[in-house]
Amino acid sequence: MRRHEVLVVGAGLAGQRAALAAVEARRDVAIISKLHPLRSHSGAAQGGINAAVGKEDSVDTHIYDTVKGSDYLGDQDAIEFFCREAGPTVVEMEHYGTIFSRAEDGSLARRPFGGQGFPRTIYAADRTGLALLQALWERLGTEHFTLYQEWDLTNIVVREGRVQGIVAFDRRTGQFEGIAAKSVIVATGPAGRIYGRTTNAHTCTGDGVAAAYDAGALLKDLEFVQFHPTALLESGILITEGARGEGGILKNVLGERFMGKYAPHVLDLASRDVVSRAIVTEVREGRGFPGDFVHLELMHLGKERIETRLQEICDFCRNFAGVDPVVSPIPIFPAQHYMMGGVGTNIRGETNIAGLYAAGEAACVSIHGANRLGGNSLLETLVFGKQAGLAAAAHAASASAPELNDSDVADAEAPVRRMMSRTDGEDPQAIRTAMQQTMDRYVGIYRTEADLLEGLRQIRAIQKRFEQVRVVDRSNVYNLNLTDALETGHMLELAEVIVVGAFARTESRGAHSRVDYPSRDDAHWMRHTLARKTPEGPNLTYAPVGYTRWEPKERVY
Ligand SMILES: Cc1cc2nc3c(=O)[nH]c(=O)nc-3n(C[C@H](O)[C@H](O)[C@H](O)COP(=O)(O)OP(=O)(O)OC[C@H]3O[C@@H](n4cnc5c(N)ncnc54)[C@H](O)[C@@H]3O)c2cc1C
Repeated sequence: MRRHEVLVVGAGLAGQRAALAAVEARRDVAIISKLHPLRSHSGAAQGGINAAVGKEDSVDTHIYDTVKGSDYLGDQDAIEFFCREAGPTVVEMEHYGTIFSRAEDGSLARRPFGGQGFPRTIYAADRTGLALLQALWERLGTEHFTLYQEWDLTNIVVREGRVQGIVAFDRRTGQFEGIAAKSVIVATGPAGRIYGRTTNAHTCTGDGVAAAYDAGALLKDLEFVQFHPTALLESGILITEGARGEGGILKNVLGERFMGKYAPHVLDLASRDVVSRAIVTEVREGRGFPGDFVHLELMHLGKERIETRLQEICDFCRNFAGVDPVVSPIPIFPAQHYMMGGVGTNIRGETNIAGLYAAGEAACVSIHGANRLGGNSLLETLVFGKQAGLAAAAHAASASAPELNDSDVADAEAPVRRMMSRTDGEDPQAIRTAMQQTMDRYVGIYRTEADLLEGLRQIRAIQKRFEQVRVVDRSNVYNLNLTDALETGHMLELAEVIVVGAFARTESRGAHSRVDYPSRDDAHWMRHTLARKTPEGPNLTYAPVGYTRWEPKERVY
């Protein structure tokens, strides 16, 4: 049986930063990742990372903007810690070799992002995530650790309330193996592929969150799903908020700059939930273009600015939409983008299970509350990745040896072998598509009781179909038919938690917008949803929001 002190699942920014902290604390560390680390979805982040480093800006303003952006569901103690760590974190990443874009005077260039009082989003053109990921990977490469690359986590093993390790399989051989560990950190990133229309890559399937849920971890606030306002019409590819930060504007079919009606002070740079709802409202009320979209215009910024500050966006528009943003408007409509919820943790990444930690998009600390501000997620991966790594290392230094047995591996492998030996049953892709269509149709930007009930009925029916899923490919080598099936199973579990949480929350807050309960209801709902897995489905309980000094107010932009 393989054995390590700290095992990090995921090699994106959160996983790598956690691993670095644990290695620096002199523990025996391993990372397991289903992708090459540099292919992690962090590399797709375009717009930038927040830190209040400008003379006119302040940490307090960053805290306030984040609390307000969260619609007062973010834990204020966690947000204060997070924003204080922002400056040192960005400086550290620059010291590791990240080449950030510069202003004329040589200082770090900053662009305005939605819902923020000052330009505080530091960037590397429109490839910020990749710049950070490469620098961190180079830094980590100078340390000693073990990498299990193209290995898929399937199960987290917990006994007597304590983590014992994980079960995973090597894509190259199909062999299932156990890896015992005193501390396991879940850093498996987004779950956006639960939806059909999403900015997330096909690999963003919530595997670690589902495995933690199966193992008894509490999932926090999963009903809060962020829809990014500006995704390319057909493909859902993201057009960064940085495009509006550079001065891009939204227009409807009448040529109106409609955001004035919805956010009179900051217009196109309101927070994401507000802009997404505005676009959907324009289209529903007949002011969208035929085919249901609106325009994002950049032409007035001029060729040079567009092509230097938004290079990748130009390529995406030209290659995937046949539109040149220098001369034509970009057709856009909102798409699923980010999960505010995840495995519930405190600021040290600790979960309700001893030895189990989570960080990055897979976790919910919670700093984003009901709505994340752009630029805060890259920062979260680094700030709380480091904290999780430190806490996991400290735990491993004193914990007794974990007990992982061959029977744990056999138990995890048995259902997979059943899928592969079935002679009839359904293809995982058909089941995945049905789930995505249900979530797009019934659990989107605007929600109602009737839609959510129908969505839940359909998701449970699709879960039943999944019990008979059939993996046609019997090969043990790079069996993507099998990975499709396993990922679909993970997403179906999380889809159910999203719908059940959304149905229960009879208010509108941040990204959770109930047409039948249009107001925020602080008296009843200023609290976090916690979901625990039971044979009957998710069991919901609620926990208070961490509060320091920011009184809840009506959120106006
Ligand atoms: C298009 C796009 C643009 C964005 N732009 C910005 C931005 O400008 N600023 C900002 O702040 N945020 C941005 N975000 C959000 C931000 O990029 C992500 O939230 C963040 O990078 C997630 O990092 P992570 O380390 O948690 O996950 P990831 O980088 O997705 O890493 C997840 C890791 O887990 C591994 N993994 C997953 N499942 C398994 C499994 N079963 N077994 C083993 N390994 C597994 C993967 O291989 C991968 O290494 C953007 C998001 C998108 C989709």
